[in-house]
Amino acid sequence: AIEARDVVLSFGETPALRGASVAVDPGEIVAIMGPSGSGKSTLLHCLAGILVPDTGEIHFDGHRIDTLSEQERSMLRRDRFGFVFQFGQLVPELTAEENVALPLLLSGARRAAALAEARPWFARLGLDGLERRRSGELSGGQAQRVALARGLVARPKVLFADEPTGALDSLTGEQVMDLLVTSAHEEGTTVVLVTHEARIAAYADRQVIVRDGKVNALVGA
Ligand code: ATP
Ligand code: MG
Repeated sequence: AIEARDVVLSFGETPALRGASVAVDPGEIVAIMGPSGSGKSTLLHCLAGILVPDTGEIHFDGHRIDTLSEQERSMLRRDRFGFVFQFGQLVPELTAEENVALPLLLSGARRAAALAEARPWFARLGLDGLERRRSGELSGGQAQRVALARGLVARPKVLFADEPTGALDSLTGEQVMDLLVTSAHEEGTTVVLVTHEARIAAYADRQVIVRDGKVNALVGA
């Protein structure tokens, strides 16, 4: 499980989280919704060990992770977590398949083995034929699916995804959500996603609403 307990975080004078608590079970998909600026991305980054709260705690698999060193947190992210961010996350000079293979290469896999694991994701995500395309030459929706493949390729315990369907048309968005539901329910990947689309959030097991830096409503699916 991944859990935030009473997390408070400010950027200088700007309070982003004011006592946010949420717990996500293994193999569960939770959608974080809420108005722009309410603290959704900040909460996701705290859960993922990217940002460290001013006060409060983050727990993963029974261990407190916000007190780990920067290096320990980055190893945890590499070994256990996958990420999908909305913009500017692919390396534009690398091909699509090299981008997908990147987490495996960073974990020490050989290039041929990493690329072989990367390739099946192209068919799964409707990206056949784009393996060798430079990422900088993909459309927004193609790049977003490549980023999703990269987030899942190392079979993380937890996938954190910030607006993973924001650049997709509704049919492709639904296909991506089907894939995330399969990852969660059949492979046990915990999925924490941020979305402002109710139609996308409806795929989650549970929806959480962030308002003014607090998680203040729960809707069972
Ligand atoms: P959106 O739906 O627009 O993505 P959000 O709910 O993800 O919004 P956050 O990005 O978490 O909101 O931002 C919460 C608050 O923190 C906002 O007031 C925002 O302006 C501020 N904030 C976020 N990141 C930073 C930063 N790096 N530096 C300064 N302020 C920030
Ligand atoms: Mg955001």
